[in-house]
Amino acid sequence: MPLSRVLVANRGEIAVRIVRACKSLGLETVVAVSAADRDSMAARMADRAVCIGPARSSDSYLRQDLLLATALGTGCDAVHPGYGFLSENAGFAAACAENGVIFVGPSAENIRQMGNKLIARDIAREVGVPLAPGSPRITDFAQARGIAEEIGMPVLFKAAAGGGGRGIRIVRSAADLKPAFETASAEAQAAFGDNALFLERYIDNARHVEVQILADGHGTVIHLGERDCSLQRRYQKVLEEAPAFGLDAALRNEIRAAAVALARHIGYCSAGTVEFIVDADRGRFFFLEMNTRVQVEHPVTEAIAGIDIVAEQLRVAAGEPLSVTQEQVHLTGHAIECRINAESPLRGFAPSPGRLTEWAPPEGDGLRIDSHAHEGYVIPPFYDSLVGKLIVLGTDRSDAIERARRALGDFRVAGIETTIPFLEHVLAQEDFRAGRINTKWLEGVSEDYIADHTQGEKRA
Ligand code: ADP
Ligand code: ADP
Ligand code: MG
Repeated sequence: MPLSRVLVANRGEIAVRIVRACKSLGLETVVAVSAADRDSMAARMADRAVCIGPARSSDSYLRQDLLLATALGTGCDAVHPGYGFLSENAGFAAACAENGVIFVGPSAENIRQMGNKLIARDIAREVGVPLAPGSPRITDFAQARGIAEEIGMPVLFKAAAGGGGRGIRIVRSAADLKPAFETASAEAQAAFGDNALFLERYIDNARHVEVQILADGHGTVIHLGERDCSLQRRYQKVLEEAPAFGLDAALRNEIRAAAVALARHIGYCSAGTVEFIVDADRGRFFFLEMNTRVQVEHPVTEAIAGIDIVAEQLRVAAGEPLSVTQEQVHLTGHAIECRINAESPLRGFAPSPGRLTEWAPPEGDGLRIDSHAHEGYVIPPFYDSLVGKLIVLGTDRSDAIERARRALGDFRVAGIETTIPFLEHVLAQEDFRAGRINTKWLEGVSEDYIADHTQGEKRA
């Protein structure tokens, strides 16, 4: 492998995940840490840790200049950006390339194209991938009114530069249009420095289905099947599964083929995910966006495919071919990931940072925990609240659900609040077990959960 040392430009569980993949390939690692993460698990596991700045991400994990200088100064030939932070920053990918450092991800050009949902929609249209009815960039409110009428309610305002569920607002009636436009535009400006919005028809009974792509620099583009990520709160994923259950074979194959065609068309090279919305009432699917990075939920695909996605990313970044062909990909079993967040479900999922006085994850066959936490670890208040991911592999969906329930029940955590009790509640729901879910389902479940439990508190 023409790589020897990798800078990990991220933190938390994904930094640990990247260090592990590097080790499995015999690569050295340097982890760039903020002052809050000096003693992190990734820092302990890596060959070296370099503190690049204070806790605030804008002074550390988002400092392109410091990260590049650290990569060059420590003799790294590559930078792995993980997810979030600089992973979808085309300027950073370009700066790495200009300085002779390999960015472990696709080209800056591909990041730029797919980072803008309006450009991505244009490209998907060229490839013949179905799109939900939508608009070009909305510049003023009067134009929005006309387009919303054409598309028909409900509609969504979406930020062209959006990600992580931010800048999305649903509009159910003409009266909501103006406030939704204003809040979405302000949120997009604050989160992404770009207030460009567009409209898309809102699919009421929808499932989120996404296809994992792997592509190398030798013209090979393959898929590792699809994931269902319909369980969301505020447009953010909470629990993911692979494969997506209950899709008929024709639809499943069309979705996979659309994802591969899109990636091939843009000359994509790396791991990536093409996201779709499936209209469950009409059996149709529409392109949502492409995420040009490793995703939080990649382990469910790894579990059913037996392929290390991060190792493949490193291989193809080094110019090597993928280690598998499409024919060699065999998907077996059913995997579920539960995102364990340091949050208080009963206080509206407010962050719950602090010291872990106990952290005893369950162990067993078909069980994987991706986490940077340990007993005594202090979860800093500066970053997102993910403390770990519990991934189970079962023979089928109901076996995976049972395993996940048991594993969550055996998970002992103290010192902070987590989403574990809420996840147990979700897994126990008859609708979930029967697969009667859509992207709205979890919102209702979480509202009822909070209402029921806070009632109980008052009575007690
Ligand atoms: P998604 O939910 O879009 O598939 P992941 O769950 O893999 O993405 O999210 C990775 C992390 O990066 C999450 O913490 C998410 O909030 C964050 N994130 C994703 N896209 C962006 C973005 N464009 N800007 C800021 N944060 C983002
Ligand atoms: P982000 O970049 O923030 O991840 P996406 O376009 O991927 O934005 O959408 C995030 C989520 O919002 C989807 O997973 C889905 O739950 C919901 N969503 C997006 N577009 C639609 C739509 N047209 N109809 C229904 N739900 C949608
Ligand atoms: Mg998305």
